[in-house]
Amino acid sequence: MNEHDSERIAGLLTSEGLTEADRVEEAEVVVLNTCAVRENADRRLYGNLGRLRQAKERNPAMRIVVAGCLAQKDRGAIQERAPWVDVVVGTYAVPRIVDLLRRSQAEGPQMDVREQTEVFPSALPARREVRHHGWVSVSVGCDNTCSFCIVPLVRGPQRSRPLGEILAEVQGLAADGVKEVTLLGQNVNTYGRDVTVPGHPTRPLFADLLRAVDGVHGLERIRFTSPHPAHFTHDVIAAMAGGERICEHIHFPLQSGSDRILGLMRRSYRAERYLEWLGRIRQGIPGVAVTTDIIVGFPGETEDDFARTMRVVEEARFDAAFTFQYSPRPGTVAAGFEDQVPKEVVQERFDRLVTLQESISLESNRSEEGRVHQVLIEGPGRKGGSQGRTRTNKVVNVPGNVPPGVTVPVRVDLAHPHHLTGSVVAAVPA
Ligand code: SF4
Repeated sequence: MNEHDSERIAGLLTSEGLTEADRVEEAEVVVLNTCAVRENADRRLYGNLGRLRQAKERNPAMRIVVAGCLAQKDRGAIQERAPWVDVVVGTYAVPRIVDLLRRSQAEGPQMDVREQTEVFPSALPARREVRHHGWVSVSVGCDNTCSFCIVPLVRGPQRSRPLGEILAEVQGLAADGVKEVTLLGQNVNTYGRDVTVPGHPTRPLFADLLRAVDGVHGLERIRFTSPHPAHFTHDVIAAMAGGERICEHIHFPLQSGSDRILGLMRRSYRAERYLEWLGRIRQGIPGVAVTTDIIVGFPGETEDDFARTMRVVEEARFDAAFTFQYSPRPGTVAAGFEDQVPKEVVQERFDRLVTLQESISLESNRSEEGRVHQVLIEGPGRKGGSQGRTRTNKVVNVPGNVPPGVTVPVRVDLAHPHHLTGSVVAAVPA
């Protein structure tokens, strides 16, 4: 969501005639788009602001903007601590960024942190970092109250975007040459709960949205992130299985395998139910890849709780997992819990989990050796050649310079825990 906002901020500034500066010191406008989910977000913000203060002393024309979740959360505190900041713009006020910059020039420091969005970020111009991919926000905010999460505080309750508007945006992107879209929502599979369409007795729900977007001509791939396991439905599985363009990949955040910890996290599912849904997903969508998020060392996590997480990971056979060491985020409920787990204990459990998951990921990737996948090339590989992704979201490296945005058939030659290497098995389209 934050990257998506950054593209929109860049788009708004570009449409005002600004261009990208080579060096921060030479920039007329510097925007720090903050993410409160990241560790030490505020320490990093004030460190960067300290450095920018010196740059601004040398280049007084510079305007400094702080945007994003920290701006939403800390509001006036930012300009109190760093009075050289010209504009503080909250997550809902992004469309006003240009106006605020102009005002700051005439009237001094400005702040706009509001509680509701009037314009969805996707409705603003964007300067897309990647030509073949587009983020499309389908809802903002979240009605859940996970105790480790800052999102409800900085993005508010869920608000869904009208289906027609989303569809029009996706059609526009496809006409513009975009091959792949990622539908974005903090809790993407509760899309539509809060919208009604005049004349329709039922609300459009996430499966309806998937089916509608699947019908957009010219598009190759549809992804979405992130669904909540407690709100998964058979209808979504059916839409994925029947969709031509919907990729066979689900990011399905587990967070913990211990029911006690899930309760403390205020996650409204339990390990058994999670595994049941995983089974239904795998049965209903042939060849689907499943990835997850896991937090290690949540306050109060015992060795027994952690052993339960390890057991669920063993059973679930995730293709990949994003593993996080818990650290408190100011403003969340869990930050106030007393029984924080010592750092060295968290580290030791984390290492065990990573070792287990890497062996499972490698096993899953080995089963790909010899198979041919359609790979959408994203750009140069880190160690040469080109890099792309399968529909199942596995990273594949191939030799040679294949243009980004081109889809090529690739035979997988070798598996690694985090990626595959392969060879293109047909001529690359010019
Ligand atoms: S569902 Fe996701 S966004 Fe919503 S509170 Fe929980 S972790 Fe945060």
